[in-house]
Amino acid sequence: MTFPRIYLSRPHVSSRERGLLLDAFDSNWIAPLGPHVNAFEAETAAYVGRNYGCALSSGTAAIHLGLKLLGVGAGDEVFVSSLTFSGSVNPICYLGARPVLIDSDWETWNMDPNLLETALKERAAKGRIPKAVIPVDLYGQCCRWDSILEICARYGVPILEDAAEAQGARYGRKNAGQFGRIAILSFNGNKMVTTSGGGMLLTDSEEEAAKVRFWSTQSREPAPHYQHRELGYNYRMSNLCAAVGRGQLAWIDERIARHREIFAFYSSELGELDGITFMREPKEGDWFSTKWLTCVLIDPARFGADREKVRLALEAENIESRPIWKPMHLQPVFAKCDRYISGVSDQIFRDGLCLPSGSDLTDHDLDRIVEVIKQCRTS
Ligand SMILES: *Cc1c(COP(=O)(O)O)cnc(C)c1O
Repeated sequence: MTFPRIYLSRPHVSSRERGLLLDAFDSNWIAPLGPHVNAFEAETAAYVGRNYGCALSSGTAAIHLGLKLLGVGAGDEVFVSSLTFSGSVNPICYLGARPVLIDSDWETWNMDPNLLETALKERAAKGRIPKAVIPVDLYGQCCRWDSILEICARYGVPILEDAAEAQGARYGRKNAGQFGRIAILSFNGNKMVTTSGGGMLLTDSEEEAAKVRFWSTQSREPAPHYQHRELGYNYRMSNLCAAVGRGQLAWIDERIARHREIFAFYSSELGELDGITFMREPKEGDWFSTKWLTCVLIDPARFGADREKVRLALEAENIESRPIWKPMHLQPVFAKCDRYISGVSDQIFRDGLCLPSGSDLTDHDLDRIVEVIKQCRTS
């Protein structure tokens, strides 16, 4: 293979991250916690527009503690988007609660407000209101938040917003991460901001933030000996990771601009081809998507090749692409979960492909990718 591999979305780091990391190293703040953790929390919370951020070891850990804050426990039900990564759902089960999976709508690819309403109505009729709802802002695009907030408010159900893939996205006048009573971000390796691994819980309540920091450091009581009255977790972010995150955050607007430029390029090169449609911002114009990943649907009958054929053709050229998340209602581990399914996410999964979207892709890389895809058409 003469060409270097093109990845789906590689961490894109600079000398700024390196400098901050070395500062953390040289000041001997290798131990967890330290000044970069506090600064990263404050800077991220300010960027999103929340009062408090709690830096944790992963986005999944943030969902776990967020659900605990909302009082989720054994036997409770929690509604969650079915079209998502398993990290959105696993923490519901850690707490002994039961996920109820809600399908997507065609416009946003996110939780369908109509299905959510149907589900809430049915559950309410049986006197079983869920303890929380977790709508996911998928692939850098916000949910239809006006409807979702209104419906959840009507039933008095708190929202935990999974904005792991959507840092920097907006809906109306608000940022992803401002919609849920509690929101979470992920700083995993391929997210818009990475700390190599990490996450953050966002809240406007000082008391909730204090509780999360307490739980995430093994619920250690303020005593010189090790004193514990509650179960704890080792979920805090290290100072080294936070230093990298601060460097990354400083770049976020440039990175998003490049992700959107990449989407625009794919869209202009492939958008006119019969059988290819893009995950787009809904027409009403309230959405600003980061285009974290450019996602397309490939209709095999019209395009002349199916999603898998295109993926394998790219792979043969050393180019990584990925199917859209396999919905949780199709996952064996969640086979027993109740669900409200319309078929939308089944079809998005069947036909959907995430194209390489990292902000460090060159124009030459993009030309190569588009060429391979065009060649997949049966002429
Ligand atoms: C990445 C991701 C998570 C989990 O984040 P981690 O930091 O990997 O634990 C949760 N939800 C969604 C939608 C994600 O994409």
